[in-house]
Amino acid sequence: MQDQGRKAPSDRGYRRGQRTYVILGGLLVILPELLVVLLGSADPILSTLSAVLTSTALLSLYSLFYFRTERKYRGVSATLTDYFRSGLSLYMISNILIFFTLGMIYLLPRFGLATIIYVDAVFAPLYLVLARFPIGLRVGGRAEPLTDTKILSATKEMAQRMDVDNVELYTVDWRRFRTANAFQVGPRRFSIYVSNYLLDNLSSEEVNAVLAHELAHARKRHVMKSMALIFFPTIVEMDVLVLGYVITQTNLVLGSIVFAAGFAAIFLEPRLAFRFQRRFELEADVIAVRTMGDGRPLIGALEKLSALNIVPNNKRSLTHPSVAERIRRIEQLSAGDLANVK
Ligand SMILES: [Zn+2]
Repeated sequence: MQDQGRKAPSDRGYRRGQRTYVILGGLLVILPELLVVLLGSADPILSTLSAVLTSTALLSLYSLFYFRTERKYRGVSATLTDYFRSGLSLYMISNILIFFTLGMIYLLPRFGLATIIYVDAVFAPLYLVLARFPIGLRVGGRAEPLTDTKILSATKEMAQRMDVDNVELYTVDWRRFRTANAFQVGPRRFSIYVSNYLLDNLSSEEVNAVLAHELAHARKRHVMKSMALIFFPTIVEMDVLVLGYVITQTNLVLGSIVFAAGFAAIFLEPRLAFRFQRRFELEADVIAVRTMGDGRPLIGALEKLSALNIVPNNKRSLTHPSVAERIRRIEQLSAGDLANVK
């Protein structure tokens, strides 16, 4: 039995543990960057060394706390190395920021406005790589093509009705992390990833509902829209920062205003983008329910997923509305005439 030796889950303890490793993850990205900003122009070598060391130390702490929390409260069988590996993407972001900022500090005084070319040349390809990130899951041996013929034919049938082409299904091995999840990637060629832990625990109707939801994301090109909402404004905002800095050399007040505007936009714009992302989730739910002609399988799936992943029903995340809100919307649909829903 999978559940043997598992401690009774204590929600509050688990929340506290989660908060600790989420904060450590945030520090992993922010602290090294701060060191470079503060020390970079005074001593590039010392600041790089201390930033990379800080980043590495924080990666270790993050993995350790993540691992201990998940093992204690959820009885995962994944190892510390598994969690270390899962922290590597944050570590990568942290180090890209360190070297990107050093590049800015070096280039800005010498090249002025032309530094914008550097900003765009670094960020544009990076975004393309990130959009294709789950390829990394396959390369890392975590994902393989889904072979269950029942799931494949049900998906094919739904995809046809939703007018979605170019869909490939993969399973991700997250059984040892006890993570039940599914997601769609690719802005034009669509890949849907489903964790084997989700397939273990949901009925076939519920799995179909989850896949209908992911197909709806593909149908509505939500990945492409999210990229447009998050990535491209970031490039423009970084360019505005460079522009602001260059203007300060001749007009301190105007330059500072431009710089401050770019800085504020970097913090405020993602809030707007995430608001749209939560709307995309509700939109995908509606399409999934209309495709299935029944809201109950999706409601069942959402309830099971939040129980399996120990996510409170009333808690929304940055990118997803709360399960309670999603269920309420679906119930409103199921009660009315589905054909008349906009
Ligand atoms: Zn979704």
